[in-house]
Amino acid sequence: MLLGIITLKSGCEKKIRHFYPWVQNGEIHSVEGNPAPGDLVKVVDSQGGFLGIGTYNPAPRFPVRILTLEQKPIDTAFFVRRLEQALQKRKHTVHDTNAFRVLFSESDGVPGLIADQFDQYLVVQVRTLGMERLKPLWLPALQEVLQPKGILERSEMESRKEEGLPPFIGLLAGEVPDLIPIQESGLEFLVPTRTGLKTGFYLDQRENRRQLARLVRPEERVLDLFCYTGAFALYSAKVGAHAHGVDILPEAIQLAQQHAERNHLRADWTTANAFEWLPQAHARGEQYDWILLDPPAIAKKRGQRESLRWALWKLVYHALPLLGEGGRLVVCSCAYQMDLGTMLDIVRLASTDRQRRLTVEDVSFQAPDHPFLLQFPESLYLKCLWLRVD
Ligand code: SAH
Repeated sequence: MLLGIITLKSGCEKKIRHFYPWVQNGEIHSVEGNPAPGDLVKVVDSQGGFLGIGTYNPAPRFPVRILTLEQKPIDTAFFVRRLEQALQKRKHTVHDTNAFRVLFSESDGVPGLIADQFDQYLVVQVRTLGMERLKPLWLPALQEVLQPKGILERSEMESRKEEGLPPFIGLLAGEVPDLIPIQESGLEFLVPTRTGLKTGFYLDQRENRRQLARLVRPEERVLDLFCYTGAFALYSAKVGAHAHGVDILPEAIQLAQQHAERNHLRADWTTANAFEWLPQAHARGEQYDWILLDPPAIAKKRGQRESLRWALWKLVYHALPLLGEGGRLVVCSCAYQMDLGTMLDIVRLASTDRQRRLTVEDVSFQAPDHPFLLQFPESLYLKCLWLRVD
């Protein structure tokens, strides 16, 4: 089963022993056994001491992804155990919904594999060649433990290119409808499994949506920018606020409208580019009590950090004039490359440039079914700043 031995350079074993699951190119001393891309390998320290078992692919920047620090076979039983551990973790953190992330890659000890449960169906994403090659092992584990009616794969991430994998959408088991109705906090949403973004629904914002619903008061005006299928807007409409959702995707707005109808709620919806829409709304004199900014990661590549910062600055700079004194601004970033400190710097800069004083009332993160593994800082990707205009 293990088709090669990767020996790390002296000193590089520490990270792995401290639970960091990726090995970089420069940390490898030698590769024995001529493993093919995607093969399982044993990882050892410079003295030949066992460190862990991982998948190997020489092409990407991180050729080894550690699956386990134990000397045990990687088989279906291994994935069954991982799943059971993941479900155990979620028992106390996921409630009042039938949709949640069952497996979150490295955070659940399955680097490269994501599985979201939507009612009785699963939508999975495979990010690495290693995990793709292990499909015959983890697929039966998902079926055995969760017994879904169907499993759909939605693997279209840019990062697959680096792994030598083409984009892929396809049914792995059973049947999966194009739209799956799910329940979350008493609201019903339709998850567009084949045409939606990512796996179809942003489960990671669940607790932030709930926080918004706790804070918003009836009759307040809430602007949900980058609303996708309208989740934040509808949570606020449910507590009696006037919600307005804006997104660039017409299909997302159509579904948002459908969501409003299904839940007997009223909200306004606009299909527009947020960057253009904001200054126009300001020119029209529009005012809000709450503005949510939940842009996509925009620039995923390492060299594009500058544009990511610039985009966030622009959004905050153009959103602030739409808020009066006491207005609230919720700024989210789902790019793991942008840490909390950088986010605070950008927002500070944009608000100072606008001559507005802001108080940080809270900071929140991704929902706990997307666990943030302390030893793997990359697993913290979603940060939200809850700000108040003084
Ligand atoms: N808040 C949403 C998730 C947002 S994901 C939720 O909780 O469900 C980011 C969204 O930004 C996507 O729906 C995407 O279509 C939209 N988007 C991307 N670029 C945009 C732009 N320039 N203007 C408006 N929307 C944009």
